Amino acid sequence: MIAQYHIQMTTEAVAQNFSERAMKAIISANLKQDALKNQFGHDEIHYDNNAIEEGNRYISEQRGYVIAALLSQGNLSAWTAFGRLLHTAQDFYSHTNYVTMWLDQFDGAPPSPAEIDPLKKELTESPNLHSGKIYLPMDALFFIKPLRPLTLKLLPKDSHGWMNLDTPDQGPKFPYAIAAGTKRTVHEFDLLRKLLPPELFARFTDK
Ligand SMILES: [Zn+2]
Repeated sequence: MIAQYHIQMTTEAVAQNFSERAMKAIISANLKQDALKNQFGHDEIHYDNNAIEEGNRYISEQRGYVIAALLSQGNLSAWTAFGRLLHTAQDFYSHTNYVTMWLDQFDGAPPSPAEIDPLKKELTESPNLHSGKIYLPMDALFFIKPLRPLTLKLLPKDSHGWMNLDTPDQGPKFPYAIAAGTKRTVHEFDLLRKLLPPELFARFTDK
C-alpha cells in the first residue's frame, strides 16, 4: 500500500492507545519499509513473490524485538519494531489473494468491507494463498502511471502489477484490503497487550 493508507490504517487502529511521540516513531518506521533499499530483495517485508512463510516469520521476529527492546528499556526500538511489524501485516492484504479468497466464499453477494475477518484460518493456511510476483522491469514501470496500461499488457496475471490492492485505482476489493489491514493492526496491538506484563505494556504505550 502507499504511505497515506499505511498512516490511515495505523492511526485509525491504534492512535488512541499510544502517546504522540510513540505514534510518530511507529508510523515513521512503518513508512520506512517502503524506502527503495527495502523494496527489492526484501520480499518478506511486503509479502511479495509468494514470501508467505517469510512474511509470517518476519512479523513474529519483529514482535520478539518489541519485547526484547522493552525489557532493556529501549522504548524507541520497541516502537520502530512495532512499526516494521505493522507495515508487513498491512501489506499482507494488499499483496496476497487473501481478500479475493475471502470474497469468493460469498457467491457474488459479499458482506461489506467492515465485516471482513482478517485472520480466517482456512484462508491464512490455504495452499491457494499466494502473492504477486515481481517481474522486472515491468513491475517497477507499473508505478509510473502513464506506463501502467502498457506494463499490464506485458505482465502475467500472477504479477504484483495485476494482483496488488495498493490504491483505490485497483477497484472494489481495495476497501476490503484497508478494512482487513486496520483490523489486523488492532489484533497485533491486542496480542502485545496480552503478552506484555503491565509495567512493560505501560512503557510501550507511553501513556
Ligand atoms: Zn510495502
